[in-house]
Amino acid sequence: MTELDTRPIDNPALDTGDDEPKNSHYVKKEDIMRSALDGTPAVALCGKTWMPNRDPEKYPICPKCVELMEMLRSMD
Ligand SMILES: [Zn+2]
Repeated sequence: MTELDTRPIDNPALDTGDDEPKNSHYVKKEDIMRSALDGTPAVALCGKTWMPNRDPEKYPICPKCVELMEMLRSMD
């Protein structure tokens, strides 16, 4: 099963075109690691390009990501 983690939005400027700008998203752990190394945004489960940081649980988790995560879990 793919490992996932949640991180909140660090830079709201990267959060464009969304009606819920202050959400955490589920992102693959490998993407978070790469993001931390490169400083490049990761792509969340919901498809959102998003910059993870080290302050989880600061924002509510994106409902779309929750839905997709539940789907993935049920398929596991
Ligand atoms: Zn999301």
